[in-house]
Amino acid sequence: MTTITLRNLRKEFDDVVAVNGLDLTVRDGEFLVVVGPSGCGKSTTLRLLAGLETATDGEIRMDDRDVTGTEPKDRNVAMVFQNYALYPHMTGRRNVTFGMNAGGSFTDEEINRRVAEAAETLDITDLLDRKPQAMSGGERQRVALGRAIVRDPDAFLMDEPLSNLDAKLRIQMRAELTQLHAELGTTTVYVTHDQTEAMTLGERVVVMDDGRIQQVDPPQSLYDFPANRFVAEFIGDPAMNMIDVAVEEGVAVHDAFRIPLPAGNAADETGSGSETESLADPDAGDRSHAVLGVRPEDLHLARERPDLGETEFDATVDVTEPLGDSLLVHCSVGDATFKMSAEPRSSLDPGGTVSVTYDSERLHLFEPETG
Ligand code: ADP
Repeated sequence: MTTITLRNLRKEFDDVVAVNGLDLTVRDGEFLVVVGPSGCGKSTTLRLLAGLETATDGEIRMDDRDVTGTEPKDRNVAMVFQNYALYPHMTGRRNVTFGMNAGGSFTDEEINRRVAEAAETLDITDLLDRKPQAMSGGERQRVALGRAIVRDPDAFLMDEPLSNLDAKLRIQMRAELTQLHAELGTTTVYVTHDQTEAMTLGERVVVMDDGRIQQVDPPQSLYDFPANRFVAEFIGDPAMNMIDVAVEEGVAVHDAFRIPLPAGNAADETGSGSETESLADPDAGDRSHAVLGVRPEDLHLARERPDLGETEFDATVDVTEPLGDSLLVHCSVGDATFKMSAEPRSSLDPGGTVSVTYDSERLHLFEPETG
């Protein structure tokens, strides 16, 4: 059981700043997911935690111990990689136990007991006598997990471990990882570029961009209260609509609509260094341009949600896409386009006009992009 603390952690490779001053506490027993686009510094962060990279600056603590400059073997963490990293010429058992009896840290009896336990937990007993080429991708990843858990490490560090699996197996393994975590309770840092994986696995999710933390929150809070435009667009599929507006006395003004903004913005409630202005901030009078963010499922056909009252504007239907459980409607209003979610069997004609409504509590306002 371990708490991991990062203080102002920084890593430069020549002129690239891969990790730019991270401050973060991974709580004891927590499943923390780090998510962000390719190149944002996720793997480097994990490799710094593992001791596979040396920090340029800052500190890594595991409980009270400063491990910043220590070797991987002195950290008692187990890493699980995307490509499984199994030795092809060794059986499952040898792969799981490789290196365990070096230095006499475990007796043969202890190793056998741990392997049997791990094999039962992961349902890999049948794989122990097979070599990796005789295993499927999912089986290889289970063996790689077996190697991680027999060591009973203080923390698991997982780098995109499900990325090489097909979509169906990935969903199954996601659930299995959640169960495994519930069973073992080991502090886990899990890196992925996939926001669905982050949302489903993480007790808390760290969103990174450009070497920096953008927000740390439980998944639903990230979704409901994104701290800035980057998080708002990265989390959620289909992505949040972003429409350029002017803000005049608490009203978002567009050529084609005027949407009154509620006082106070939910995004401010996270208190996580939000860049978001209060929606109807009376002090923001001199800032006339903003970006209105609204998720497709928070826009509705007025006829399907009469309960939302008088908040309506007209839009033109461009294209409809049946998703099975809903209908995704691409619309335009003036020079803006947006997507909205309608009941699955709604009949809508492209080119036709629809009346659109929304829940004003679920609107977001962001700074306009600069430059
Ligand atoms: P991610 O895991 O989010 O895709 P990485 O941590 O791998 O991102 O990389 C972050 C940045 O650091 C990228 O610009 C990448 O090119 C750079 N980088 C990573 N490792 C090295 C390295 N060994 N040498 C030089 N640049 C690196």
